[in-house]
Order: sequence, then structure tokens, then C-alpha cells
Amino acid sequence: MKDNNCIFCKIAAGEIPSKTVYEDEMFRVILDLGAASEGHALILPKEHYANLMELDEKTAAAVLPLAGKISKAMMKGLNCDGLNLVQNNGEEAGQTVMHFHLHMIPRYKGGAEVIEWKPGNPKAEEMEATAEKIKAAL
Ligand code: 5GP
Ligand code: ZN
Repeated sequence: MKDNNCIFCKIAAGEIPSKTVYEDEMFRVILDLGAASEGHALILPKEHYANLMELDEKTAAAVLPLAGKISKAMMKGLNCDGLNLVQNNGEEAGQTVMHFHLHMIPRYKGGAEVIEWKPGNPKAEEMEATAEKIKAAL
């Protein structure tokens, strides 16, 4: 299903132009207009899924193999030194376009820090309680 009000549906369908690096029947992979590094790309499913929780299993099963294929092309073609995969779900997590997308961010030696967080130090009993909350919801 497509969402008529969704910009990534329109980009994935080719109705809005984008710098496309790969396309097949399920996905379009485009360069991010606000690239955090050279080659920053977005994997977009052609169907509309708002986020990871809504993604169907077939698309979910195909997305990581595609990310692997694009990763190898980035390492070879851009000569990057590594790359990060980032996938934001929900406004609080930084998602600004509510159509599932996987960021692929090439990293270069000496390049800017683009993914960072301050490590916490949870107590063992807190970790136990947290793990139980997730397990109980599975
Ligand atoms: P989010 O914050 O939702 O995880 O990521 C959305 C990303 O989409 C941002 O990195 C932003 O730069 C990119 N973006 C937003 N609109 C467009 C667009 O029209 N074309 C392209 N190529 N990228 C876009
Ligand atoms: Zn969409």
C-alpha cells in the first residue's frame, strides 16, 4: 500500500526525483539530501510501512541482505573505512519521515563523529528488571 501524503512513497515510486543508487521491485536506495557523510544513503521499501514495527516479514527479510550488498559497494566504490546502519522509529528516536527507512552511513578515517552516545552504568538488578519487562511482552 502507498500513502498519498508520504514523500518517501513518492520518491520510492519515482514520482519525485532522487539520486538513486539501486532499485528493484521492492526497494529504492537513494542518497540522503542531508548526507552526514559522503555516500549517506537510505533504503526505502516501495510499500508504505511507517516504521519497523509495521514492516511486513517479507520486506524485513529482504532489507538486511540488500544492506549487505550496498555496504560492499560502498566499501569498494567509496573507499570508506566502515559504515553505520541507523534506523529511527518514532519522533522521540529522531524519526522525521514516517516511512520506514534504513540509513547507511559510510565512515571515513578522521571523519566527523556521526553516531555517538554516552554509555550508562545500569545496576545488575535494574538490568534484570528491564530484561523481564521485555521478555514478558514477547
Ligand atoms: P529520519 O530522521 O526520519 O530517520 O531520516 C530522514 C532522512 O531523510 C534525513 O536524513 C533527511 O535528510 C532525509 N530526507 C528528507 N527528505 C528527503 C528528500 O526529499 N530526499 C532525500 N533524498 N532525502 C530526504
Ligand atoms: Zn510512505
